Amino acid sequence: MEINVVQKVLKVNDELAQQVRERLRAAGVVAVNLISAPGSGKTTLLESVIPLLRDDLRLGVIEGDPETTRDAERIARHGVPVTQINTAGGCHLEANLVLQALDRFDLKALDVLAIENVGNMVCPVGFDLGETKRVAVVSTPEGHDKPAKYPKLFRQTDLVVLNKIDLLPHMDFDEAVFDRDLKELNPDVQLLRVSCRTGEGLDGWADWFRRLSEAGEAAEASA
Ligand code: MG
Ligand code: ZN
Repeated sequence: MEINVVQKVLKVNDELAQQVRERLRAAGVVAVNLISAPGSGKTTLLESVIPLLRDDLRLGVIEGDPETTRDAERIARHGVPVTQINTAGGCHLEANLVLQALDRFDLKALDVLAIENVGNMVCPVGFDLGETKRVAVVSTPEGHDKPAKYPKLFRQTDLVVLNKIDLLPHMDFDEAVFDRDLKELNPDVQLLRVSCRTGEGLDGWADWFRRLSEAGEAAEASA
């Protein structure tokens, strides 16, 4: 019986995700769903890339958290449109929340919408938000075994960002094991090594957004 209930919820979510996708496509917006454990640096990665993209594309941000508007306040300081979703303790975003948040944006004035999911590597994976691409973020203090322990996330992601690489000398993080496990799960996945503290890798992170936006424009033109 319980399995039926879960399936029903997911079916509704998929239908709402499709509505999100259609609204974004109609407005020519590509969307990114950022998934990671709490504290991996998702918000800082967004704060770091905003100034680099300012002249090239128009970014909007949805922040998902169980409580507070702290991350939205951090993003708002950079002058980009942002909406905070509070899940009231809920451990992942669902498409109905994103669909409601879309009403807070002038979508025609955006190229890319970044959706920062609630910090959690398990259940966000099962909920399509209508995104164009998924990004999994891991920071080096979390350990190299994240892909092996959370295979569903790493199998279903388009990009992996290894964040806080400036801390590698202080961590027992085995990059060879991380790379091998990741390759086994997702041979074609792109991996970016980034430090928001030193700036290493941030150009590649910005380029990834630029290419995504260009691909969105091309798709819009051929539609
Ligand atoms: Mg955050
Ligand atoms: Zn959850």
